[in-house]
Amino acid sequence: MEPVVRLVDVERVYRLGEVELKALAGVSLEVPHGQLVAIVGASGSGKSTLMNVIGCLDRPTAGRYFLDGKDVSTLGRAQLAGVRNRTLGFVFQSFNLLARTSAVENVELPLVYGGLGGKERRRRATEALVQVGLGDRLDHQPTQLSGGQQQRVAIARALVNRPRVLLADEPTGALDSKTSVEVMTLLVGLVATGITVILVTHSHEVAQVAQRVLTMRDGKIIADQLQQPRSPGEVAA
Ligand code: ADP
Ligand code: MG
Repeated sequence: MEPVVRLVDVERVYRLGEVELKALAGVSLEVPHGQLVAIVGASGSGKSTLMNVIGCLDRPTAGRYFLDGKDVSTLGRAQLAGVRNRTLGFVFQSFNLLARTSAVENVELPLVYGGLGGKERRRRATEALVQVGLGDRLDHQPTQLSGGQQQRVAIARALVNRPRVLLADEPTGALDSKTSVEVMTLLVGLVATGITVILVTHSHEVAQVAQRVLTMRDGKIIADQLQQPRSPGEVAA
């Protein structure tokens, strides 16, 4: 089967006056469907730049990117936005939920651009919240939820468009270890349903839960290791 993510010699060069900085210096990568991948590496090694390219938030300055078999490296902004909406879900360290807005309304937001009616939006958002175990918190606002619950709302929001790939930059970075286990258990469960999850982490424990660990340095992948994933409960500190 075609890999869901395929990068071929991808470069991302930033020009700062006379100086060229290669944030990505020739990255080639194939990720099959249903894999849980952790990206690790020192600050400044290019992890976020790589996630932005994979997430179609940024385009490579050289090389090719095939997402779900389609060459997206040359698409314009509007087309990329469409691909993002249909294929990708995003989860952030800081949850990025709207304040004073209920969980179900937060999860409905990505559907507002999809032309679905209000009833269908509510049905799909409710289904996504049930999927992350928050079926009894639909009307709670972010301040009425714990950090782990807020991150689960954010994951439901990322899932509501039924993406092929979920991208998460430090999804447990703001959570204590018990809550991190909860969130990692949820992500592992999603992978079991066939979703591909690519996450950035500083945590050795979180990386142990992945099937594959990519290590970045100076804009390159310097190690690409398959491993026997450990269960989130097992690696809890
Ligand atoms: P990481 O996420 O691993 O900390 P980044 O991908 O954010 O690393 O950054 C990789 C390199 O690219 C760093 O040297 C950083 O300073 C540089 N960089 C990132 N974004 C920009 C930008 N918008 N303009 C110029 N340089 C950038
Ligand atoms: Mg970063």
